[in-house]
Amino acid sequence: MAEKHVFQAEIQQLLNIVIHSLYTDKEIFIRELVSNAADALEKLRFTQSAGHPVFESESPLKISIETDEKEHRLVISDSGVGMTHSELVENLGTIAHSGSKAFLQRLATEQKPDVSLIGQFGVGFYSAFMVASKVSVDSRSYLPEEKGWRWTSDGSGGYEIEEIEGAARGTKITLHLKEDSHEFNESWRVEEVIKRYSSFISFPIELNATLINTKQAIWSRNKNEIKEEEYDEFYSYIGHDKEKPLFRLHFSADAPLSIQALLYVPGKNMEVMGMARSESEVNLYCRRVLIAPKAKALFPEWLRFLKGAVDSEDLPLNISRENMQDTTLMQKLNKVLTTRFIKFLDDQSEKHPEDYTKFYKEYSRFLKEGIVTDYTHRDALGKLLRFESSTQPKDEQTSLADYIKRMPSEQKDIYFLLAPSRASAESSPYYEVFVARKYEVLFLSDPWDEFVMEHLRTFEGKTLQPAEKADLTVENPQKTDGELSQDEAKELAAWLKESLGDRVGEVRASERLVGSPVVVVDKDKMLTASMRQMLKRMKQDIPEDTEFKHDLEINRSHSVIVRLNTIRNSNGPLATKVAEQLLDNAKVAAGVMEDPRIMLARLNDLLAEVLK
Ligand code: ADP
Ligand code: MG
Repeated sequence: MAEKHVFQAEIQQLLNIVIHSLYTDKEIFIRELVSNAADALEKLRFTQSAGHPVFESESPLKISIETDEKEHRLVISDSGVGMTHSELVENLGTIAHSGSKAFLQRLATEQKPDVSLIGQFGVGFYSAFMVASKVSVDSRSYLPEEKGWRWTSDGSGGYEIEEIEGAARGTKITLHLKEDSHEFNESWRVEEVIKRYSSFISFPIELNATLINTKQAIWSRNKNEIKEEEYDEFYSYIGHDKEKPLFRLHFSADAPLSIQALLYVPGKNMEVMGMARSESEVNLYCRRVLIAPKAKALFPEWLRFLKGAVDSEDLPLNISRENMQDTTLMQKLNKVLTTRFIKFLDDQSEKHPEDYTKFYKEYSRFLKEGIVTDYTHRDALGKLLRFESSTQPKDEQTSLADYIKRMPSEQKDIYFLLAPSRASAESSPYYEVFVARKYEVLFLSDPWDEFVMEHLRTFEGKTLQPAEKADLTVENPQKTDGELSQDEAKELAAWLKESLGDRVGEVRASERLVGSPVVVVDKDKMLTASMRQMLKRMKQDIPEDTEFKHDLEINRSHSVIVRLNTIRNSNGPLATKVAEQLLDNAKVAAGVMEDPRIMLARLNDLLAEVLK
């Protein structure tokens, strides 16, 4: 005689929603039932390994699925722990988890309830009623003294439980499919869904007696037992990429979260290859059941080139995509993974510098994007940057940390100069003072670098300072005859300002020039001169510049300046022409000369004067 039970009110409420919802992703019920089966097998494996007696201890651990097109049935069985009578009542009739009630309330108030969340709240089993008009659960607990039981329900009101004879260990769930769900009695359809969500479950899954999940969950296996080829095979499977990856990180952690992760850096940066913006291809699993393919929230945007798998037991199954963005759990996971990956890159740069160089060439833009956009990891990312430098061989790159190691003790800041090439950096008037003082200067050639430096601001307590704005002076070693005194220089500066009028801001004597007579500076400008030039080369829009005037600094030791000071009294018109030419020369050197052709007429005048 079957005993009748009434569903707990909340369960009935849930079932009403599940049964009547017009949910499109119905297929997820397979994931839920298969994951329950895998859980039950996991528990059995654990029980067995703990040495407890187990009913039918010889029967293999597996999941079997059968489709029946004639009767429109789908049967999912496992040889896991099974359920006793009281477990059936408890697990499939009442809500155990406190979160489930909150979920219910939400579902009940929503216009289009998102039933796919169901697994997240410990009620995944009931998703079976999305596709089935009747569900029966035959279960036989692993406990040797137990009996077999059949639980049946049509989802309305209650369920019945009766004893059955000859049940095998584990659970067999039979779904009598509704008319609109007959697709799930077709083998190919079921296979498709299982491949999508469950292909890395570590127990065999047989569909109509054929094994279908041949892919092992490689990330959850022991590193030492995995062959190089297996890693590569997994990469080409998930990455859809025949080439070898640049880097691979396989790690597991227990605290603060339980994580197993296998991450790959593809050999090529697809974004520079002219492809569309990459999207993270790291899948999120919970105990080898796929929770979210390409889970965006797992990593910050700037790590979107990663491919692989992350598995965390701490995640609720079936966490929804919208929900993933803001759960604190996801944020924690994101932080742990990102920190770990940055540390990995830092390690690689030491252990495999050549590989790191290759990586940097492909992906440095992503790291820089991270510095600009990701405050949390900014400082750690600073360690990963590499630049050419004045003291290092051409084409070799140095880290900020190594730069600091080479700094003389009196040097306070880290200096950098943005220039399209090393040659142009070395001939820059801003560079002179550094040569004279024997200070190293980083040569930045990526137009992004200046923004990056602005955001990073400091590294290991040292300020990152553009060479143009460096507050450095140098005692000019080559004393020129007739070098102008401070006062004379001041007077000349005043005369220059008068002659050049609106074309310059301030004019003043400089203590940082060695070989150049003048230099333009733009202390308070957002974009330095070099940045401006770089943007122009990239044909970027740059802010209109007509209002802006450069300051002009003069080198009171330079022979041109000394001579200019003499002739400004004797030959005013020539002196003015020279002054104008000096300003243009400085602009050319700084790369801010819009159209150098304008100055050619004047230059020819000056030549005529010289050849007189
Ligand atoms: P959850 O899996 O989150 O606990 P479900 O609604 O999916 O929520 O399942 C409820 C409970 O029913 C499970 O916790 C488990 O105890 C039991 N259960 C479901 N399916 C099986 C199964 N195949 N074998 C053993 N127990 C099961
Ligand atoms: Mg479940």
